Amino acid sequence: MSATRPRPLLVVGAGIAGITATLEAAEAGHEVVLVEREPAVGGRAIRSHHYFPKLCPPSCGMELNTRRLERNPRVRVITGATVTACRESNGGREVTVARTPAFVNDRCTLCGACSAVCPAKVKDPFNLGMAEVPAIRLPHPYAWPKRFVLDRDACPAGCRKCAEACTYDAIDLDAKPTQETIEAAAVVVATGWNPYPIDKLPELGGGVLADVIANVQMERLAAPAGPTGGKILRPSDGKPPTRVAFVQCAGSRDTNHLPYCSAVCCLATLKQAIYVHEQLPEAEITIFYIDRRTPGRNEDMLTRVAELKGVHFVKGKVGSVVAGADGSLVLKAEDVELGRIVETRVDLVVLATGMVPNLKSDETPFGLLRDEDGFGVEGAAGVIVAGVARRPEDVAATTRDATGAAAKACMVTGRSA
Ligand SMILES: Cc1cc2nc3c(=O)[nH]c(=O)nc-3n(C[C@H](O)[C@H](O)[C@H](O)COP(=O)(O)OP(=O)(O)OC[C@H]3O[C@@H](n4cnc5c(N)ncnc54)[C@H](O)[C@@H]3O)c2cc1C
Ligand code: SF4
Ligand code: SF4
Repeated sequence: MSATRPRPLLVVGAGIAGITATLEAAEAGHEVVLVEREPAVGGRAIRSHHYFPKLCPPSCGMELNTRRLERNPRVRVITGATVTACRESNGGREVTVARTPAFVNDRCTLCGACSAVCPAKVKDPFNLGMAEVPAIRLPHPYAWPKRFVLDRDACPAGCRKCAEACTYDAIDLDAKPTQETIEAAAVVVATGWNPYPIDKLPELGGGVLADVIANVQMERLAAPAGPTGGKILRPSDGKPPTRVAFVQCAGSRDTNHLPYCSAVCCLATLKQAIYVHEQLPEAEITIFYIDRRTPGRNEDMLTRVAELKGVHFVKGKVGSVVAGADGSLVLKAEDVELGRIVETRVDLVVLATGMVPNLKSDETPFGLLRDEDGFGVEGAAGVIVAGVARRPEDVAATTRDATGAAAKACMVTGRSA
């Protein structure tokens, strides 16, 4: 690498952690390459209906961040790409970045002519498979880069309708995967998390009963860009529920599933109870919990929810959820305060499942150590872990963590602003 052109930092994962680390380092004067495997940046948080603690839509903060990414000449963003190799080299890292074929290029104007003619439908990944979308589409309304994506695997043989309909020559149905090697000064791994799958909790109706959903699905049900246009409706019959139960620690703090606390699920449920109550003020909401973990100022949310009409807290672990004869769901739990087993009948159950680090299951090329739960532990030279890849945390903590990671990465490069 020449003396005049410093090596960039490479950030893997463009959730809130990766975006923060990128912006902090770039705005301090460093070149940064941000690699994201999805077609758009934003990670998991962009899929929330509202953010705690302020309960604002995640698109607000994200728009500011994407504007900063777009305007900073030191930032290069590569979407639809991942790191396949990361070797020590010259005191830094030689990183191989593999990109899936970019079937739609920068000439895309978002006119939508391609979607209108597309005969193939796929389950919408942004809405966690709860809706169907054309194979060619904008990934979601807040997507950045603002460019259509194409699920080529879903195309019937010989179909070229979208390419023929696009008058901007923005579609290349024959695009091939590409690969490049980047000499990086340091690597920030911000690969985040996946929700614990509810079908591993059949005793709680997960994956068995249609009206038992995960907390991440509830976020999409309430979101205006979600599968029901923001109406909270039961998946089985499309009716608004009048009784909703939240099951805390569903699979968390449980050695059979995730032995750790995911740190955000209590707060996520309180947030969801607030927006369910706002939309369905007559609904009875019961929250089954072991502990209510609301550290610091987040305690205010607990007080706020406890004062809402129709909200009840039951201290006790739910043992089972089964179908009732009338289409309802019956929860059985030990009410610790009453000292007996209680049965509660509801229309919709939300399982507050935890966060599983992507590093746990992925083949990781970073040479990172991982703890027994799969979270990244530093130890590889020039590789720094940030956000939920390192430990479960909310957006505010993730942002602080990623700022620290950026500072460390900048120190590794030995350059100042
Ligand atoms: C139900 C629920 C609700 C929540 N609500 C809130 C809330 O209201 N307020 C709040 O503060 N927090 C909330 N959280 C927590 C919040 O979602 C996390 O703090 C946040 O997502 C952490 O961001 P991250 O960047 O570390 O990870 P992620 O958001 O997971 O981002 C990681 C990114 O890395 C990408 N990636 C992964 N692997 C690779 C790879 N190999 N190569 C390239 N890219 C890769 C992913 O595609 C993703 O874009 C909630 C959590 C849950 C479970
Ligand atoms: S790919 Fe072409 S037809 Fe489709 S939205 Fe972009 S410009 Fe329009
Ligand atoms: S080629 Fe694929 S994306 Fe394009 S119109 Fe046909 S099915 Fe849809």
